[in-house]
Amino acid sequence: MEILNEHITNLLTHLPSAVTLVAVTKTRPVSVLQQAYDAGLRDFGENRVQEMIQKQEVLPADIRWHQIGHLQTNKVKYIAPFVHLIHSIDSLKLLEETDRQARKNNRVIDCLLQVYIATEESKFGFEPDELLALLGSGAAMSLPGIRVRGLMGMASFSDDQALVRREFSGLKQLFDQVKSQFHQALPDFNILSMGMSGDYQLAIEEGSTMVRIGTALFGER
Ligand SMILES: *Cc1c(COP(=O)(O)O)cnc(C)c1O
Repeated sequence: MEILNEHITNLLTHLPSAVTLVAVTKTRPVSVLQQAYDAGLRDFGENRVQEMIQKQEVLPADIRWHQIGHLQTNKVKYIAPFVHLIHSIDSLKLLEETDRQARKNNRVIDCLLQVYIATEESKFGFEPDELLALLGSGAAMSLPGIRVRGLMGMASFSDDQALVRREFSGLKQLFDQVKSQFHQALPDFNILSMGMSGDYQLAIEEGSTMVRIGTALFGER
């Protein structure tokens, strides 16, 4: 508890006030989330639906739950009643299903479009061209249950700082381009989710508005 408080305080003093901290709580037990909550954190990120709903049921109702991991279309219905922000929209099909489930729950769900920026093969997301084509088609804006709030990306897992910085700066450029090109259709487009424990400082320097941090808060998994 003491150590967690120290990590949280430490981290928060290093984050500009305009940057939102999402505490990545995947694999952590409920007791640890409760400690983070007691220390004042409210934004929690999970990457598995099953785990998120189990935790959501037993933890305070004012927690803002962020879906940060790959989301399967058939699982959207489980988080649609309460999820605060989905960071990992990586297909039109998933966006359309989220819209359907949002409307069933009389909600508008905030979403980020995930962009593939890393050199690794395994990561999910739209290619930049694909993203611009999707937005150009208007399909993402015509869904009444969805509010597209911004972009999310994960840099390469690499010690090459120049590479990581280039990837973040490329995502920021794309973010700025979308913001100016589609500002009428996307008036609430203002979240750029990039940066994790190992690279959040670089991400912030390159324009991140939201960092997703697990290990630096809670220790190695
Ligand atoms: C696990 C995870 C994080 C946090 O990673 P840390 O290195 O523990 O800070 C951030 N974003 C996503 C999408 C994750 O899956």
